[in-house]
Amino acid sequence: MTAPTVQKAGARFGAHRVLEPRGVLPQPARRIENSFETAWDNEIVVDVETLNIDAASFKQMEDAAGGDPAGVVGLVRKTIDERGKQHNPVTNSGGMLLGVVRSVGSAVAPDRAPPIGARVATLASLSLTPLRIDSFGEVRKASAQIDVRGRAVIADGAPFALLPQDLPERLSLAVLDVAGAPIQVARRARPGDSVVILGAGGKSGILCAVQARKSVGPTGRVIGVESYGKYADDLRALSVCDAVIAHDATDALGMYEAVLAANGGREVDLAVCCVNVEGVELSTILPVRDGGCAYFFSMSTSFTRCALGAEGVGKDVELVIGNGYARGHADWSLDVVRSDARLRSLFEERYG
Ligand code: NAP
Repeated sequence: MTAPTVQKAGARFGAHRVLEPRGVLPQPARRIENSFETAWDNEIVVDVETLNIDAASFKQMEDAAGGDPAGVVGLVRKTIDERGKQHNPVTNSGGMLLGVVRSVGSAVAPDRAPPIGARVATLASLSLTPLRIDSFGEVRKASAQIDVRGRAVIADGAPFALLPQDLPERLSLAVLDVAGAPIQVARRARPGDSVVILGAGGKSGILCAVQARKSVGPTGRVIGVESYGKYADDLRALSVCDAVIAHDATDALGMYEAVLAANGGREVDLAVCCVNVEGVELSTILPVRDGGCAYFFSMSTSFTRCALGAEGVGKDVELVIGNGYARGHADWSLDVVRSDARLRSLFEERYG
């Protein structure tokens, strides 16, 4: 089906959907319009099949619901009813979705317009995506995915990816959720560098560990920190880390000592935070050498804890917020999976 012929002119970046407060863009908005009665000329409308909830958000809702999947669904439903988008009011994060293109507005640039019926994953957060859900299906805890029937908008300028043919869709969705992470490691880690990754056994953490190994080469060191025993074992089995530390990353002093011990007594060049819990800012910053970089991919990161914490311990390190978008990040992250048969089979088992 193509777009209805009568279309209203949409504002840049989807601003016409904002209900309150007026004047902001959809991400910081409290509430956005999620009805589909009006056709806007700069929107791509998709029929939604699966939500991939952000890991920090899923964990927060799971904890709030006492581990009950129906409770998580109830919280998602409430958030979308109240806000017109899956913008978790506690973690402030979203996730992304898998859907089928239903219509493409007349003002969408031809080089951006996907074919009607194409299967796509959104690469912009659910915290800014107009979303209506008609029914909920299976909840998959391991991948934080929820099957649904609903409708959503890819707003003007928001990135998305066509799902590749050579990988299982659920696996691609899981990888694309964290596509921003491995490419940032590739941009920062140099041959011979030492890199520590916190939450290294999780989805983004493993991708970062595999990327770090490629980037630092045989003379560098890759150290993974993972508190969940099974995921630590999975990471060891990939043989990309020089050391895997089964440690609680919220223990800043213990982490500092453990990381230095794993790095010949030296501080590291780069630390990447990929955990799904709060309170690891200083554990990320402390082991980094002066002039090095602490990269915060985690959505549970506090800007103030980073800035003031680094100041308080006199650490002159670059603190970087993990931008979910980087040019070419989708293909890059999928290529990381394609490049390593053991990683691919682990991810197929976990998320496929
Ligand atoms: P994930 O698969 O759940 O991985 C997180 C890992 O951290 C899990 O293995 C988890 O273990 C581990 N962990 C939890 N608490 C820990 C602790 N105290 N010490 C050491 N390890 C601990 O999550 P993900 O999908 O990779 O996402 C990671 C983070 O990136 C989340 O905060 C997510 O919100 C964020 N994210 C950011 C962006 C962005 O654009 N910047 C995009 C997507 C996601 P358990 O399995 O035991 O919990």
